[in-house]
Amino acid sequence: MHDVVVVGGGPAGSLVARNLAPRHDVVVLEEHGSSGTPVQCAGLLSPDVIRMSGVDPDILNTLHGAEVFFPDGTSVIVRSKAPKAVVVDRADLDGRMADAAVSAGAEYRYGERYTGHTVGDRVTVSSSSGSLDARAIVGADGHSSRVAMTLGDNGPREYLRGIQADVRMESVHDDLFTIHLGSEYAPGFFTWEIPCGDFVRVGLCTSWSAGPPYPYLSAHLRRMGAEDRILRMYSGKIPVGGRPRTYGERCLLTGDAAGLVKPVSGGGLHPTFETVPHLCRVLSSALDADDLSESNLSAYERGWRSQVGRELSWGYTLRRMFTRLDDADLVRAGGFASRDDVRSLLDDIDLDHPSRVVGAMLRRPRALLAAVPLFIRCIL
Ligand SMILES: Cc1cc2nc3c(=O)[nH]c(=O)nc-3n(C[C@H](O)[C@H](O)[C@H](O)COP(=O)(O)OP(=O)(O)OC[C@H]3O[C@@H](n4cnc5c(N)ncnc54)[C@H](O)[C@@H]3O)c2cc1C
Repeated sequence: MHDVVVVGGGPAGSLVARNLAPRHDVVVLEEHGSSGTPVQCAGLLSPDVIRMSGVDPDILNTLHGAEVFFPDGTSVIVRSKAPKAVVVDRADLDGRMADAAVSAGAEYRYGERYTGHTVGDRVTVSSSSGSLDARAIVGADGHSSRVAMTLGDNGPREYLRGIQADVRMESVHDDLFTIHLGSEYAPGFFTWEIPCGDFVRVGLCTSWSAGPPYPYLSAHLRRMGAEDRILRMYSGKIPVGGRPRTYGERCLLTGDAAGLVKPVSGGGLHPTFETVPHLCRVLSSALDADDLSESNLSAYERGWRSQVGRELSWGYTLRRMFTRLDDADLVRAGGFASRDDVRSLLDDIDLDHPSRVVGAMLRRPRALLAAVPLFIRCIL
């Protein structure tokens, strides 16, 4: 019998496997033929996230900020001296993280799809290749996690739909990414254009209610004159707002499967990497004590909530406020963001903790006063 079956060989599953494998017998089931494909990510990560990944992926570009366009065509540039983000190829990052887990002793079974499990004095996992027994299971199987659904009515509060294309073209800025806000561009979220050397990664997410995102991407590429320059296209879903439960008898969830995604940016790797070491501590000591009960494993959820829960719930509140703004409000927000005292706050925005900007704003009474009409629109 194995100690742990990890379902999903993406970044969350591989980091769990790498941390546990030196002391425990770990098997990773990955339904695809390799880790990292198909890609469902813009690859925009803070330098801190790269450090936490424990590997050294190829860096396509280093970015210092963003130019944000509002629906009336005006824009605000937010730029810092220190690098804000790097751009990576997610297939490369995921492949390296899986290799690191294998080097640490984990076994990867590629092409093997998890189909369900039962829990008794062990976990019996069914897969496309048969069944296997383990003492515990970790669901790291992404946005549409089947493992998460074994814990009851456990869907995320909301899904965003994402789509992107790599297009061969020169970008306006080398060290800034570009964002467009507005109902014509990306209802309920935003677009991004990320310079990646000899190509630009153009993408967007939309609220579920806006329907399929392809027509919005297609229109945006047309506006950019890039519709004939597509190299690759990717799409995916992003679960935001969290899931009700991330633990059960002999079972823990992480990554998108646990709803560990920042609602403001759609970024999942920072909250996941920040909390995986805690998951591994809880699970490892539960394995040592041979107590894999639901009550013992509940320490995982308490711990991750104290680490990142505030950022995620604040982020979801901000997202809900954002979705109440119409294009005219967004234009007003643009005017507000271009104030010198607000711009200087935005220059310092932390990609991993975007909602902290609200706390900083509270310490600037004049800026706060100017934001009151917008704030009232958000809560009405
Ligand atoms: C368009 C888009 C852009 C994004 N951009 C960013 C970004 O710039 N920065 C950022 O931090 N985040 C970004 N994200 C979010 C990020 O991609 C996810 O948060 C991240 O991939 C989550 O990692 P994970 O390991 O939890 O899940 P995944 O990366 O989805 O990995 C889950 C793995 O489980 C496997 N699997 C699923 N079901 C089964 C099964 N039944 N049996 C076996 N294997 C299974 C899958 O094949 C997959 O390999 C973006 C998402 C989208 C859609």
